[in-house]
Amino acid sequence: MANHEVNITRLDAFTYRERIKDGDATVLIPVGALEQHGPHMPLYTDAMLSTKMAELTAEATDSLVGPTIWTGYKSQQRSGGGNHIIGSFGFDAAHVVETCRTLVREFTRHGVHKIAFINGHYENYQFVYEGVELAMRDIASAGDATPTVLLLSYWDFVTDQTIAELYPDGFPGWDVEHGGVMETSIMLEYFPELVQMDKVMDLPPAELPLYDLFPVDPSLTPESGCLSSAAASSADKGRMLTKSVIDGLSQVVNERLR
Ligand code: ZN
Ligand code: MN
Repeated sequence: MANHEVNITRLDAFTYRERIKDGDATVLIPVGALEQHGPHMPLYTDAMLSTKMAELTAEATDSLVGPTIWTGYKSQQRSGGGNHIIGSFGFDAAHVVETCRTLVREFTRHGVHKIAFINGHYENYQFVYEGVELAMRDIASAGDATPTVLLLSYWDFVTDQTIAELYPDGFPGWDVEHGGVMETSIMLEYFPELVQMDKVMDLPPAELPLYDLFPVDPSLTPESGCLSSAAASSADKGRMLTKSVIDGLSQVVNERLR
């Protein structure tokens, strides 16, 4: 069984060293968050989905999966409902930056030179970017071999065709997908026991302003905490979305990291 395990956090150190010893290993690092996802999904949704996408891509590309970063940047009202909502745990940017920077440095020290961050929490992106950027600087100034590092958010790999099929009434945009059809459908496909469709609050998509406001005006976030309704979710849609994502991710990993 351990032979087919792609996630290094479930391997013993001897097996891990064996898997990376030829210096040709690719490691995919999921980046999630601990964040409220309405009344129908768990706090760990972003971490679970990014980990699942990384594991499926690793299986398709003969790669490994690194530890899931669950300490995501603060939920923002226009993409995650807002960090004022109890259930969301917002880490400062410096924490996300340093965690990503450390992982790139440590994998490089281990002899892993091909790394991809698979982001699953909208707000993380620029801070993961900064962590990678600083790690590249650290590695260059230490005179070590520069790794190849990819950074992406998995939903960007859902094709336009899949979007057109799954959102016949119009696509609301990935920012307001928080707790909506995409995340809920993929959770229904892989973790159905953790989704409570009978608790979905079928509300219209959030109408958010073109600016951020401090302090947050809580009335701008729908009562559900989700930014669009998950009512039209299904495991079938989850399967289609996942296929689209894994095809796209596998292609880019094979092209750049294998
Ligand atoms: Zn989410
Ligand atoms: Mn999120």
